[in-house]
Amino acid sequence: MEGSIEARVSHEVDLWLRWLPKWQPGTHRARMRLCRTCFGSPVIAAAGLTTDVPHAVQHSMSMRMKLIIDAAVDDYTDRNLPLLQRELEEAERRDRAQHYHPSEGLGPEAAGLELDPEPEDGHPFLFTLGELAAGSAPDAAGAAGRESAASAPELPLEPPPLSEEEKQAIRAEVRLADEFAQQVGRRVCAELVQHRERITAGVARYVEPQVVALLADLGRELDSPMWPSS
Ligand SMILES: [Zn+2]
Repeated sequence: MEGSIEARVSHEVDLWLRWLPKWQPGTHRARMRLCRTCFGSPVIAAAGLTTDVPHAVQHSMSMRMKLIIDAAVDDYTDRNLPLLQRELEEAERRDRAQHYHPSEGLGPEAAGLELDPEPEDGHPFLFTLGELAAGSAPDAAGAAGRESAASAPELPLEPPPLSEEEKQAIRAEVRLADEFAQQVGRRVCAELVQHRERITAGVARYVEPQVVALLADLGRELDSPMWPSS
């Protein structure tokens, strides 16, 4: 990826602001669980998106910043942490050979969200993407597994076990990667603060009116004679 962290943040904020007018309420079902990426995120706080902002709007910002941080950490690892890089490549090769990954290659608006909608009572799914990704859907995964076993019988060999020294050395590299990620995260947040004004202006223009209209609709529904008063 080209350019400084700060330039990348500015660019991703541009893209997010371009996406914002397309956001509509109710295009996704309400989440039952809190999003681990957004809840309590310093990125969301730095962007000024903590209060009264729908999750989908926050999430798309979180994922854009996560892309920047992940890319910077990947690059750092590739250049400075050879043992960790080798482990990651090995793990990825084995993982690719064995699993189907429905959550890969999604845009920042959808990445990191639940793969499957909430099930409805009395309408069970035959299988879910979540199960498929975990390799536990009884038929679909079994069939896919058999098929891939038939077409690619050679899974990569298990690497030889690591010695205690190698493990220590890898742990030290993991610590360095963590520290670097923290550092980049702080730079991303500091830069986001610089863009907070245009971010909140975008929310005021494209998001708030829709939320207000939604609440007004809800209010009318609750006032209607069809709604049993208690
Ligand atoms: Zn989220």
